[in-house]
Amino acid sequence: TEELLLKSEKLSIVGQLAAGVAHEIRNPLTSLRGFVQLLQSKVENYPYYFQIMLSELDRINDIVSEFMVIAKPQVINFEMRDVGKILQDVISLLQTQAILNNVQIHTEILTEIPFIKCEENQLKQVFINILKNAIEAMPDGGNVIIELKSDDDNVQIRFIDDGCGISEERLAALGEPFYTTKEKGTGLGLMVCHKIIEAHRGCLKIESEVEQGTTVHVYLPLDEESSVRKT
Ligand code: ADP
Ligand code: MG
Repeated sequence: TEELLLKSEKLSIVGQLAAGVAHEIRNPLTSLRGFVQLLQSKVENYPYYFQIMLSELDRINDIVSEFMVIAKPQVINFEMRDVGKILQDVISLLQTQAILNNVQIHTEILTEIPFIKCEENQLKQVFINILKNAIEAMPDGGNVIIELKSDDDNVQIRFIDDGCGISEERLAALGEPFYTTKEKGTGLGLMVCHKIIEAHRGCLKIESEVEQGTTVHVYLPLDEESSVRKT
């Protein structure tokens, strides 16, 4: 057991270091982005090169942000929250992107939803990642249905899209970091989701069929404090 303990301590030191490095990368990145933008406004030539530089800088920023969530030991401040409200906030946040992509988001609340103990910002991050993936899976538009219900043990959230779907081989590769099929993807979004949901003692499952669509199930456990409150 001593050896095991050492191993996990080492792991967390590596994690802290990695998160620290990631954090330090962001400041110079912000200043780089600022100067590239400044130059872009002063130089008339090569507009395409500037676009590439900016979008690549944004990509580094996305990777670093997601990496920080994965590497950092979670400091968690759990509070009783309304998941339906958190979802509603996330939907408003992504509404513009949805409209631009011709995607309609429908919410169906099937039962009363008790408050659960959770870390609001982290759950938001999870819902943003899942919804973004759904929108990105429907380049020609489509529908996302978000179903919310609860039973005695869990709050269950389903995100159902009618997008491109995921083949069986690809579904198996989804656990791997940096696995992405998108030109501008990081392949870290789902890892972040898994990590956060695990910290909530919940689970996340993905079902998919090519050309039919994808359903992401999120289960979040209730605890003794949870009781149905009307909003
Ligand atoms: P990223 O979105 O940056 O590629 P993610 O970890 O969020 O990284 O997702 C990994 C991959 O899983 C995506 O590149 C895509 O191939 C697949 N994927 C995730 N969600 C969906 C979805 N709703 N429909 C189709 N494919 C999906
Ligand atoms: Mg994603």
